[in-house]
Amino acid sequence: MPDIRDDIEDKEDKDDEYERYCYLCRRPESVAGKLVSMPGDINVCPDCMQKTFDSFNSSGFGGMQFLDLTNMPFGNIDMSKFTAQNDIPKSQKVKKKAEKPKKEEPELSLSTIPAPHKIKAMLDEYVIGQEYAKKVMAVAVYNHYKRVLTDTMDDIEIEKSNMLMVGPTGCGKTYLVKTIAKLLNVPLAITDATTLTEAGYIGDDVESVLSKLLAVAGNDVEKAERGIVFIDEIDKIAKKQNSNSRDVSGESVQQGLLKLLEGAEVEVPVGSGSKNAMVPLTTINTRNILFICGGAFPEIENIIKARINKQASIGFRADLKDKYDDEPNLLRELTNDDLREFGMIPEFLGRLPVLFTLDALDKDMYIKILKEPKNAILKQYKKLLALDEVDLKFDDSAYEAIAKEAAKKKTGARALRAIIEKFMLDIMYQIPRDDSIGRVTITGDYIMGKGSPIIELRGVAELEASATEMIEKN
Ligand code: ADP
Repeated sequence: MPDIRDDIEDKEDKDDEYERYCYLCRRPESVAGKLVSMPGDINVCPDCMQKTFDSFNSSGFGGMQFLDLTNMPFGNIDMSKFTAQNDIPKSQKVKKKAEKPKKEEPELSLSTIPAPHKIKAMLDEYVIGQEYAKKVMAVAVYNHYKRVLTDTMDDIEIEKSNMLMVGPTGCGKTYLVKTIAKLLNVPLAITDATTLTEAGYIGDDVESVLSKLLAVAGNDVEKAERGIVFIDEIDKIAKKQNSNSRDVSGESVQQGLLKLLEGAEVEVPVGSGSKNAMVPLTTINTRNILFICGGAFPEIENIIKARINKQASIGFRADLKDKYDDEPNLLRELTNDDLREFGMIPEFLGRLPVLFTLDALDKDMYIKILKEPKNAILKQYKKLLALDEVDLKFDDSAYEAIAKEAAKKKTGARALRAIIEKFMLDIMYQIPRDDSIGRVTITGDYIMGKGSPIIELRGVAELEASATEMIEKN
């Protein structure tokens, strides 16, 4: 025999899923605010309660305030006149919204910080190539956070691992930093050095980068103090050559950044980029914040070449003269001297001890970027069409053609997305229109505008798939 208590519990569980209503204004609890329950299963919202008291007051009952009386027993009200909550038909109740459990990523701690080879392996899943950069970053980030988490930043006489990354546009500088911050679950603020100016001039002063970091950390100062600040386009604050006017967006910004990079207590406006009388200030210590600067440093290869050629012409390396003229990875020879020549001041460079370069992407790397990363853009399109039960395929000529087009644009991997989005628009528009399509194969000719994609109907594609499956089984 079923237990009657089970029945009652069941009913209570189910009722729990439904919202309670104000008996007077009929608004649900989620809208009207916490309801006051009274005997007889009657619930009234605070507004209606107050209105009732107000009407008592105006009819000469003296000043009654609902808030004073929330605990008053309603002993002598004739409850039989009211309809109970449970008597409202289900069709008139609104089901409560299910609360989705929030997925909390574990905070970075000594036990969860991955070793450098693990950080590198995780980066490998997203970032193609750039092996040297990934290795340097993994070690630097690991050392940095080990010191932060054991609070030994001051004890060890090792420089802070602030980094300077140099590489052509679109080769993955920002992407590397973003990926690392996500893997480690630390807040990351990205700023453009071009927007920074010396304090007091039009533009953001350097401390605005910390405001951003604080906002990303949800105004949690402790969390922000363990975050990462990425300053992009750092080459744009190089010292202006032969300039007579005050260099408010170049050398002065480098000077302004010095104390942040090194570690200082900085007053930062909360929830706004600018300090003014209306904004509360908080103090952030930048000692444990990891600063990463990145830039393309256009034409710095000429400086490198000139330096090497000069060395060659005066010393025993004379036979090397002109050897580097066609060297594609000349950037790897970069030194602090070259950066100084470019216009970065020595004090600034001294505070970014981890210097490394990234390689320009070549055609093979573009193809890998299309195919391999965990969140590769083509994989995303495949998944989208799979929801419509359409199999999206790319043949090798298509990958080649996309990579070739991208290489022409000279904007790095950023060009890939632009090219793909252009031709995928038609596919994504046309395919879901026709239920009979089972497979679409994108070819190189289609990318180059010389043909159309190969369309296979559902029956054929499925037959082929089951045939392949059978062959594989045997
Ligand atoms: P930049 O070097 O100018 O900062 P980004 O890191 O912003 O360039 O790269 C732009 C986009 O190109 C990234 O969002 C990423 O999707 C893609 N990308 C660039 N380089 C790589 C790479 N090495 N591996 C995978 N994707 C890359």
